[in-house]
Amino acid sequence: MPSPAPRNATSPILPGATLGVMGGGQLGAMFAVAAKRMGYRVEAISDVADCPCAHHCDRVHVVGYDDRERLVEIARSLSVLSFEFENIPVEAARAMQAAVPVRPAPEVLHTTQDRAREKAFLVEHGLACAAHRIVRSHGDLQAAVAELGLPCVLKTAAFGYDGKGQQKITSAAEITPAWEAVGPHECVLEGWIDFDCEISVVAARGLDGTTAVFEPSRNAHANHILDVASAPSHLPDAVTAAAREMAARILDKLGVVGVACVEFFVTRSGAVLVNEIAPRPHNSGHLTIDACETSQFEQQVRAICGLPLGSPRQLAPAAMANLLGDCWQHGPPDWAAALGVSGVSLHLYGKSDPRPGRKMGHLTAVAATVEEAVANVTRARRLAAG
Ligand code: AMP
Repeated sequence: MPSPAPRNATSPILPGATLGVMGGGQLGAMFAVAAKRMGYRVEAISDVADCPCAHHCDRVHVVGYDDRERLVEIARSLSVLSFEFENIPVEAARAMQAAVPVRPAPEVLHTTQDRAREKAFLVEHGLACAAHRIVRSHGDLQAAVAELGLPCVLKTAAFGYDGKGQQKITSAAEITPAWEAVGPHECVLEGWIDFDCEISVVAARGLDGTTAVFEPSRNAHANHILDVASAPSHLPDAVTAAAREMAARILDKLGVVGVACVEFFVTRSGAVLVNEIAPRPHNSGHLTIDACETSQFEQQVRAICGLPLGSPRQLAPAAMANLLGDCWQHGPPDWAAALGVSGVSLHLYGKSDPRPGRKMGHLTAVAATVEEAVANVTRARRLAAG
């Protein structure tokens, strides 16, 4: 049965209503867990039936992200629609917006789906980011490398994630192979940042424009995929304050209603540069489930439903380690051994095929210090993987 439509655009969407989530992955599944706990119905829209959302949602609509007619029909039965996967055609999202409030709005996706548009947004609002040039041809690339210098990194403007569609260029001889690997699409060439560390800030913005900003997390990557996130970051207050302020400003200027994550580079001199923006909960924010008064997923529910945001206060130092398919290479992981480590909790996404590099789940550890949390979560993962 269709959910009752809210009385007007600002009245809260209350428990009992049906929330929609675009995408069927783990971010949608964890959103569904938070929403179900609060008494909502959740329906996911995914292009595959056997997805993490299938374990937690009331229903999964299996439909192509470009099947605009079906998408609009589904949208009509929802009270509000959010995203766990942002690379859907903006035109489809706009068409759905005519039938249901879409939060964050399709315009946010439009800006953040494309690195060139995202960089233009950052520059327009005076938000520091890497020196960059837009590149549309091999000739453009040669000229841009001459201007920015070596090393630099070539990234496709659209549909990149976890380092996909990227090539580092360290010598003139690598220019042509990089273009052949990443082009001939529109690209962004970025100057190389010799960063001290990478951090990210997850923040929520409500329907009334209030923001709630989580503690910045310090992120370590392996093979371009997030490996371990930990918070607090123990960076100087000026650095974390700048990152928090920039994240809140970004959500505000984009007009986000929902949750977004801003990834930053912190340079050796303490400058904070925006790397990229994800208009949805983020892998680096998973530790908020076990360590904060309100998780990033509950914040997403609250924000898109027009409810007051919860407190993002972190209750204990915490660290999160991703469990990639690689952890299954010696057979089923030893979860009992992992869970024997103090303060560790296990989150599995219900995926059946543990391919190397595939995000299958994560472990979180809370501890008295962040160093202890990182040591415990990585030890638990080593014990699990055998
Ligand atoms: P991205 O997909 O843009 O987040 O890039 C993936 C990873 O590549 C980042 O988390 C960094 O570790 C690295 N990276 C990307 N761009 C740069 C850059 N301009 N300078 C240095 N490292 C970078």
